[in-house]
Amino acid sequence: MSAGKKTMKNHGNNAKASRSGYFGPFGGRYAPETLMPALNELECAYREIRKSREFKEDYDRLLRTYNGRPTPLYFAKQLTKHLGGAQIYLKREDLNHTGAHKITNSLGQVLLAKYMGKKRVIAETGAGQHGVATATAAALFGMECRVYMGAVDMARQRPNVFRMRLLGAEVVSVESGSRTLKDAVNETLRDWTQSVGTTHYVIGSALGPHPFPTIVRDFQSVIGKEARRQIRKETTGLPSEVVACVGGGSNAIGIFTPFIKDSSVKLVGVEAGGRGLDTDEHAVRLTPSDRSRKGILQGYYSYILQDAYGQIANTHSVSAGLDYSGVGPEHAWLNQTERAVYTHATDTEAVKAFRKLSEIEGIIPALESSHALAYVLDNAPRLSESDVLLVCLSGRGDKDIFHVAEYLGMEL
Ligand SMILES: *Cc1c(COP(=O)(O)O)cnc(C)c1O
Repeated sequence: MSAGKKTMKNHGNNAKASRSGYFGPFGGRYAPETLMPALNELECAYREIRKSREFKEDYDRLLRTYNGRPTPLYFAKQLTKHLGGAQIYLKREDLNHTGAHKITNSLGQVLLAKYMGKKRVIAETGAGQHGVATATAAALFGMECRVYMGAVDMARQRPNVFRMRLLGAEVVSVESGSRTLKDAVNETLRDWTQSVGTTHYVIGSALGPHPFPTIVRDFQSVIGKEARRQIRKETTGLPSEVVACVGGGSNAIGIFTPFIKDSSVKLVGVEAGGRGLDTDEHAVRLTPSDRSRKGILQGYYSYILQDAYGQIANTHSVSAGLDYSGVGPEHAWLNQTERAVYTHATDTEAVKAFRKLSEIEGIIPALESSHALAYVLDNAPRLSESDVLLVCLSGRGDKDIFHVAEYLGMEL
């Protein structure tokens, strides 16, 4: 197939999808028959379009002029001095348009949808961050956009609902199940089965049925590519460790990927420990427990938090972006092969790190990112001055101030 735009439609009929999309045993495509043509079409279109020079140039220009890339790499001198150990570098994803790394994925996928000739995009959202990023990209491209959001989440996240509506998106309240993120995902998949001809589903993290985990990883890998170049320039070497928080896993896989081949670099993913592993109120999937088992969720095979009967367990985290029962399949594989290590930080530790970075560096981090910072507070003092920690500061914390004030019992 040639790379011309006109030939980039109707992949579903003529193209055979490969059996790729597995990371060891994890990942795959466990989707209903009705979605298979759409997933095949997406896989084939993506394989072709991502290689085209026109797409690369369009995407690069958007990243540079609209998204705000490359984001800076910042040497956190005060924090380094305060902790008295490893040198700490922050990859400033909080400086992206809309305040987090999510826009980089949404822009890539909406541009891809445009190249595929789609007129409409749909998305699921939990706290509303991915909904806002997708509504932003849809506004930019003049595409129709519908975002599914649990009714409970809508009530908790009024400002993001308003933002999405300002951006011209339709926000649909999901009233089924627990009326939160996993129900919104199911509703979005249901819409997609009926609308695949005109519609692309913009998934918000590196999960879902193949090819989504690969697409999202590829778009977010720009984080690691930039950071690798920047840190080599700054320090003339590679970092000792790369640290990122893990919700679905997109910012982590984005910063990890360009370092995977560097065997000297330790990769550390930090999950949400919530109220502690000895309670049921956490979102730790990659540290063994009787609640985290291999299983299938929303089209992919990975570690899933579930109860004794195999029902998806409810999760808890102070940060909405880490509060999810599944985890991207490539992380399950990096964990099993021990190429990356996964740990967790509790709500209390994350909030402590949130305050620390605000006070010491004048940067209010997202609560999600604060989990990665909690690992740094714990571990930097034990390392030597020649060690370098590269930390993904996935987003800014302005969205979290109400929640933190409430958590700390402080007046706003
Ligand atoms: C959504 C979000 C996350 C979690 O998502 P991943 O796919 O795991 O990256 C982390 N940080 C911020 C700031 C977010 O908004």
